[in-house]
Amino acid sequence: MQIFKFGGASVKDASGVKNLAEIVSAFGSEKVVVVVSAMGKTTNKLEELVKQAHSKGSYNDTLNELKEYHRQIANELLGELPDRYLQFEQSLEECLSDLFSYEPMLAYDRVVPHGELMSTAIVEAFLSKTMNSAWFDARKVIRTDQYFTEANVDWVVTEKQVINDLKPLAEKHIVVTQGFIGSDVEGNSTTLGREGSDYTGAILAYCLNADGFTVWKDVPGILNADPRILEGTEQYEKLSYREVTEMTYYGAQVIHPKTLKPIAQKSIPLIVRSFLDKSLPGTTIATDNTKKMIPCFVFKGNQLLVTAQVKDHSFMDEKKLGLILQVLDLLNIKINLMQNSALTFSFCIDNKEFKSKRINELLNRDFILSYDSPLNLATIKNYSPDSFNKLPWNRSVIMEQKTTNTYQVLYR
Ligand code: ASP
Ligand code: MG
Repeated sequence: MQIFKFGGASVKDASGVKNLAEIVSAFGSEKVVVVVSAMGKTTNKLEELVKQAHSKGSYNDTLNELKEYHRQIANELLGELPDRYLQFEQSLEECLSDLFSYEPMLAYDRVVPHGELMSTAIVEAFLSKTMNSAWFDARKVIRTDQYFTEANVDWVVTEKQVINDLKPLAEKHIVVTQGFIGSDVEGNSTTLGREGSDYTGAILAYCLNADGFTVWKDVPGILNADPRILEGTEQYEKLSYREVTEMTYYGAQVIHPKTLKPIAQKSIPLIVRSFLDKSLPGTTIATDNTKKMIPCFVFKGNQLLVTAQVKDHSFMDEKKLGLILQVLDLLNIKINLMQNSALTFSFCIDNKEFKSKRINELLNRDFILSYDSPLNLATIKNYSPDSFNKLPWNRSVIMEQKTTNTYQVLYR
């Protein structure tokens, strides 16, 4: 069995969906589970909708735009709107109408999954014209906790449900299901964090003991830097699970960071390849695939540096550090870079307004907090002496760190 994942860019219009169908049908007799994201930039639009509806603002324009976008694709592909698609349009509208009464993160998870639900409804309806396909609600099997917007998977329950509910279907049909979404024990929809569809693919690959997991992207494979930022990028033919895990830790957007662990555990090969040019081999990630790695550059924008300073003249000791780290853990916040001094602890995180608000609420009793943003973080993994010349040269450095193989700099 193979797991395929198609991201938003691959299904951003009708021709994208047709291309997906060609790719799937080229695998002919193989069993394939197809994991699909929301179409194009739909998730961003849905996030906008959440903001508007949650603050009791007017959201009709955004909603209509979103509906128009999907309807146009569906009409072009099918000449009609599938019933299943219309049901999700309706449930989206229902969710929005009373959204303000829900806690913000729960509100987000009620609305945002509709991107994936609507896209898979259209994609599967199209596949079913030429293939023996079946639509499957990923929320039926992906069980998570209640960390809404960045939920953690309950592996025991999920594996059991995948084997009981999804596997029999996948033995007989090309299954189309959603990335990024799951549900909690009470049946609320949850999401796995932005770009989480890769992770869904890996979860299903693990639970189904897949022979391979392919992520179809708009790049020819994994490159050693973002070509929009650096010139002269090179592609890796092979990488090890470990190298890619580290790359994603530093923010490389090749694949969702949580994707690697499940597939590495079962040594399932992960192939990143181009949906634009199916003849290219892509990059294969497997065990022991590493020779000497060329330097890898990772850039992360929109960073926030938080500095916590002790209020009296005591030290920033281990107890106080522990307190700060506990709060970050509680809020599910990942530190991208950190440094301590006698009286301060500074940490760099992705700049998300609602999270920094919570940090402030939970820590300002014990610390004086200051904030610096927007900043950029650059990481060079496996740096060579000349790789530093490639970094933006007119930057003003805020914080810097260097180990034997990794260099990181936070700059404005
Ligand atoms: N649609 C979600 C997002 O854009 C999940 C994904 O694409 O993987 O973040
Ligand atoms: Mg996406």
